[in-house]
Amino acid sequence: MHCPSSTHITANCKSKQGNDYALRGCYALPSAKYVKPKPISYIEFKRVCGSLTYTDKMPGGSFSLPAIVTCPIGAKLAGVAGTPCENCYALKGRYQMPNVRSAQALRYTFVKRAIASTAYRDRWVSTFAGYLNGQLIKARARVAKLGKPDKQSMDLYHAALAAKFRCGAGGLRILKGGAPIKEIPEQRELGLSAIQAKETFDALPPIEKKRVKAALAYDKAKYFRWHDAGDVFSYDYMVLLMDVIKATPNLQHWLPTQERATVKRWIKEHGPLPFNLTVRISSPRVDVHPMPKSNDNVLASSVSSTGETPGAVCPAYTRGGICGDCRSCWHNEKPLITYPVH
Ligand code: SF4
Repeated sequence: MHCPSSTHITANCKSKQGNDYALRGCYALPSAKYVKPKPISYIEFKRVCGSLTYTDKMPGGSFSLPAIVTCPIGAKLAGVAGTPCENCYALKGRYQMPNVRSAQALRYTFVKRAIASTAYRDRWVSTFAGYLNGQLIKARARVAKLGKPDKQSMDLYHAALAAKFRCGAGGLRILKGGAPIKEIPEQRELGLSAIQAKETFDALPPIEKKRVKAALAYDKAKYFRWHDAGDVFSYDYMVLLMDVIKATPNLQHWLPTQERATVKRWIKEHGPLPFNLTVRISSPRVDVHPMPKSNDNVLASSVSSTGETPGAVCPAYTRGGICGDCRSCWHNEKPLITYPVH
């Protein structure tokens, strides 16, 4: 690769900046002074890209778009019995709340604007990537300052969270301090064991609890999911989100999708997927478990009504629906991951 100053070949460049002049600016170029990018605030991020979704159940953040409208294949499957999209979770529960729907609509508007205008596209990509990178740098610095927590402390935290998520309304009322009154025995049991798990975690030394919090914040910044609702609705959008993925090489991205043709086209036109992305092509039918054809990072996921699968079963459903310390969806050790139907 030739340096644009015409005086260096970047691979052999011995300058302090090394060969990443494109990022930092070669010392030989008078105008190419490296300017450290300003961290992007969440207010700025929201102004340009919309908001992100963070939940306690998943380790990282995610981007959410309106379901069906942005799901070309999913919209067709939604009308077909025996498909995972027939009872789409992204059309129920909290996804029906007006504030969630309007946030999704706003993100979709920004994405369409980024596709239509080159100037806005650059701003959208640099703001998205800049915000994610900044969050990770901040979280990593906090872990470096406090130190890593013991595995046992993390396990106690996850056990307390799982115990909480196993509770129904009665169990949660007991967990919040209400006296057991007329709950069914199962809820009373769940509420009391959630209290016990919380107390065990709370008994850790304060510095260790701070370390746990910092480690959780690090994972929140490190792992990212496209999308918790919606899909890659067009090739132009695929190119757009891939630019964010390439510009955030220290994050690990997971893209579950029904849009296999769009992924295939991107690979055909751009080459292999970035190393920090795992794509999982979703099976279009419940209880059908296609294994991926290659062992690169285009993998698979499926849904099972029986628990039978040639792949690995997602363990979240044995622990109150939380991922805990599992990050399998983001990595390629498990070519096929199967989720119980819900
Ligand atoms: S397989 Fe692991 S990472 Fe994926 S959803 Fe289940 S618990 Fe979470």
